[in-house]
Amino acid sequence: MKAIRVSEVGGPEALRFEEVATPAPGEGEALVRIEAAGVNFIDVYVRTGQYKAPKPLTLGMEGAGIVEAVGAGVRGVASGDRVGSVNFAGSYAQYAIAPAHRLVRIPEGVTTRQAAAALLQGMTAHYLTHATYPIRSGDFCLVHAGAGGVGLLLCQLGRRIGARVIATAGAPEKERLAREAGAEATIDYRTKNVAEEVRRITGGKGVRVVYDSVGKDTFEGSLDSLAQRGTLALFGQSSGKVEPVDPQVLNQKGSLFLTRPALAHYVAGAEELAQRSGDILAWIGAGELAIRIFRELPLAEAAESHRLLEGRKTSGKLLLIP
Ligand code: NDP
Repeated sequence: MKAIRVSEVGGPEALRFEEVATPAPGEGEALVRIEAAGVNFIDVYVRTGQYKAPKPLTLGMEGAGIVEAVGAGVRGVASGDRVGSVNFAGSYAQYAIAPAHRLVRIPEGVTTRQAAAALLQGMTAHYLTHATYPIRSGDFCLVHAGAGGVGLLLCQLGRRIGARVIATAGAPEKERLAREAGAEATIDYRTKNVAEEVRRITGGKGVRVVYDSVGKDTFEGSLDSLAQRGTLALFGQSSGKVEPVDPQVLNQKGSLFLTRPALAHYVAGAEELAQRSGDILAWIGAGELAIRIFRELPLAEAAESHRLLEGRKTSGKLLLIP
């Protein structure tokens, strides 16, 4: 089969389109014929070595397709089932293995590509808005990179709950997309002082929560945008790693809460995985949640997908089609 392999850390050129043996499912595992693989920032962190992983490896965690075969002891999933997962061992490939209990069945009314595009970013937006800081109706909240994959979903889920969403974005077209997704105000964070704008929009109060996936460039402004006892959910580092923080700063700025959550810890159990994926796919099926697929690229062009994502050229989801 064809797969995107990484032997050494590096730039997008480190992604090699190669012929490798099709893996065989072991005990408790399933082999899935991938119809679409989701491209995520975590794949960039693995490629660059910001997140450590033994190499050589086949890149990618997210994908969807048809179960081709199952290993010993697998119950509840069978060949021919239409499934998706965020736990593939290398989804940038024609076939990929995942633990059978980490597969999610795709309901009718949701396309395989929509599922591949929605699971990782959708469940992330779900846990952030429902568990990390459960938004309440009327809360002001700030979403950085509001036209990004996770950002567009955070704007939609915030509006769904009745929150007053303020989004940042790096271009006028991206601001428009964030407003369409539910933000009542947007800030171009390339040119404006975010904390000052947030104070103006909220009448001086600040926001109850900041969902910050940008990290290095936005962190200070995020702390300064919070209301007293507000929560900073720092869930990514698209612009780079945040420097170490003195906890006393949280006291000075208003008894703030700071957390650095990861999806894996919010879908660790079967029940949470089923609940979050079930909600997201049901809302898509019902037309209540829009998944914006920015571009679909052939698997062989994986390097280009990383250039687009890192180059801030995307708004929504990138898919690779084997
Ligand atoms: P996005 O679609 O949000 O793409 C990243 C966006 O970040 C860009 O389009 C850009 O938007 C903005 N950005 C700002 N500064 C930079 C920079 N220096 N370089 C690149 N981009 C920048 O990606 P995803 O939705 O896939 O992921 C968003 C973030 O969420 C990532 O950091 C990812 O690691 C994190 N994440 C964390 C999870 C968790 O559980 N902790 C799970 C899933 C994702 P603009 O042009 O508008 O500035």
